[in-house]
Amino acid sequence: MTTLRIGILDGDDIGLEIVPASVQIARAAAELHGVSIDWQPLPIGARSLETHGHTLPQLTLDTLKTLDGWILGPIGHRAYPKGPNAINPHPILRKQFNLFANVRPTRSYPDIGCLHDGVDLVIVRENNEGFQPDRNMLVGNAEFRPNDEVTLSMRVITRTGSSRVARAAFELARQRRKHLTYVHKDTVFKLGCGMFVEECKKLAPEYPDVLVDDVIVDTMAMRLVRDPQSFDVIVTTNMFGDILSDEAAGLVGGLGMAPGLCIGDGDVAMAQATHGSAPDIAGRGIANPYAMIESTRMMFEWLGHSRKNEGAVRMAASMSRATTEALADAQARTGDIRGKGNTASFTAAVVRNLRK
Ligand code: ATP
Repeated sequence: MTTLRIGILDGDDIGLEIVPASVQIARAAAELHGVSIDWQPLPIGARSLETHGHTLPQLTLDTLKTLDGWILGPIGHRAYPKGPNAINPHPILRKQFNLFANVRPTRSYPDIGCLHDGVDLVIVRENNEGFQPDRNMLVGNAEFRPNDEVTLSMRVITRTGSSRVARAAFELARQRRKHLTYVHKDTVFKLGCGMFVEECKKLAPEYPDVLVDDVIVDTMAMRLVRDPQSFDVIVTTNMFGDILSDEAAGLVGGLGMAPGLCIGDGDVAMAQATHGSAPDIAGRGIANPYAMIESTRMMFEWLGHSRKNEGAVRMAASMSRATTEALADAQARTGDIRGKGNTASFTAAVVRNLRK
């Protein structure tokens, strides 16, 4: 049996609470299915700045290159001091490991305050270019201020970037309900979104089993609120995907219900929840760990398929069942999703359900 080498990067603020919760659950599931995991805790974020003099030390980057995947807790980079050693690690990790597809599912569960029943969609967000000025340059940042009156923000769209994220979305649609919607604004961004749309259209003949349609991004913002059940897989450019996935989280109980997995052509996966480090609730033990736990589960499912590790696939299936049962338990689940529990009670319930 091969051993999976998995990094643990707690991140900041609530990351210090929800990442250990996710690891505890994954350990229990791995034990249940006899999956061998070599866990590698690695420094990152504000604590790492104190202990290693950098928010993303070389030691962490070097070790990540040797791993199968890792759990990345939310990063509170907005609170970092200014300085060359206090950088936001996200763009570097996503770029360096070519994690160009950010897979963000949205699913409704009973009694937790969802605005609709029956929502089950996935937004695949391009992760490494687009309107994110810290992501689309080799050197420097793609915002410029030629004088005090003017700021220019640059958006980068490439054929390669568009095509590869579209392919990831087609593949995902094929495994699900075989419906892919590409979201854009080519009525205005005729070249940028136009290129993204061209690349989506080019791939469609390779996937005759997938029903393809497109929606303009502003219409999509409205349709997500009115009829989210009509979507399966949605693929879009970086900034549109970032905004729409937070909107989608709002439909199903908020950011604590918004997991994510970053993947690419390579053979590593990074579990990263959609939400930020929530400094407003950090340290109180009340953060909802669901998004981080589900991100972790998605990583093991992905690794199970990519490494042909049956145990990891079974482990992910057990985690799914145990987490769904815990969500149905109002005493266990957290306050943001109409529960009376906290991070610890939800985690304990998932572990209990795993061992049932
Ligand atoms: P970022 O820009 O880094 O994504 P953000 O500005 O979107 O961060 P978050 O840190 O995600 O902000 O928090 C937004 C709100 O959602 C806050 O009120 C926070 O407490 C809440 N929130 C985020 N994650 C969770 C969670 N896991 N459990 C409960 N509440 C959460």
